[in-house]
Amino acid sequence: MTSRKPNKHQKTVLQDVYEENQRLLGREVSVSGKTAKPTVMILLMALTIGFFLGGPEEKTASSPVSSVEELLSPEEQVRASMNEITEEDPLIDASVLSQIYGLSVRTIMIDPGHGGHDPGAVGQAGLTEKTITLDLALRLERRLKAHGFNVILTRQKDISVSLKRRTELAQENQADLFVSIHVNSVPVDTLAMIETFYFSPRGDARVEAIAEMENSNSGYSVGEWQSNLETVGRTVKVEDSRRLASHIQSAMISKMRELNPNLVDWGTRPGPFVVLMNSNVPAVLAEVTALSMPEEEQHLMDIEYRKQLVRGLESGILSYISEQEGNPT
Ligand SMILES: [Zn+2]
Repeated sequence: MTSRKPNKHQKTVLQDVYEENQRLLGREVSVSGKTAKPTVMILLMALTIGFFLGGPEEKTASSPVSSVEELLSPEEQVRASMNEITEEDPLIDASVLSQIYGLSVRTIMIDPGHGGHDPGAVGQAGLTEKTITLDLALRLERRLKAHGFNVILTRQKDISVSLKRRTELAQENQADLFVSIHVNSVPVDTLAMIETFYFSPRGDARVEAIAEMENSNSGYSVGEWQSNLETVGRTVKVEDSRRLASHIQSAMISKMRELNPNLVDWGTRPGPFVVLMNSNVPAVLAEVTALSMPEEEQHLMDIEYRKQLVRGLESGILSYISEQEGNPT
């Protein structure tokens, strides 16, 4: 591995990204940034390298829509774009992180919500949540792998996987983090929001309604669900999950507002999400936007918009890990 050092400009950008995240999290930032430990700086350097090599360079000029593409439905267009993920996203040479010993996070489990016979939310133009979440998960997998992490998806294609099976997969693969990706659907079609959840046996009425939608195909019987609820507090990493949620939320908002200032920040909340219930590692469920808003469905058809959503998720996860390494609990 050749060692790369960020130049002065990159360092400035890096520091800005870090400080912005800290500010969004309501933390004080030291002016010099000297509180960061070496590991944090290496992680942040990797983030910067990713930003410069993987970020702007991906923005190739968009080609005019071909006549073939015009014949495809929005759903078919997004599905078709998934086949090109390998070609279009240049990998960064960032085995940097894998060189660091003692990282508390090595394996990241990404969970694309829904799949198979369960489409999740469906937009007015027919775009489905299951297709969007898979597209985002495949892109995120690629980017996190480029940072040197072991990344595993709960599904690689359009198949049904019960929520119970998804948590089992995380345990079987000894995942250190679990991030479930979803797209919300709300009764108001003029509203799109970003919000990130972590587990709690109860949530407020609105969160419980969302959890109910997301809890279909759980794989649990009612009895199992009840008995799990009683014991769940013993294993779930509530505080770490809450912090992971808050890093992801603030990074998502900061990235997405660059493209769409109308996205509403609904923050982080606890709720009874089955897919997070039996996790023994930090686990969150991110509702990255809302398919119920037709304008947002149009945005989601744009590859650049989806790439930006992925950069938000990536940035939040890396920011959480950076903090974790700098402040071991
Ligand atoms: Zn969902």
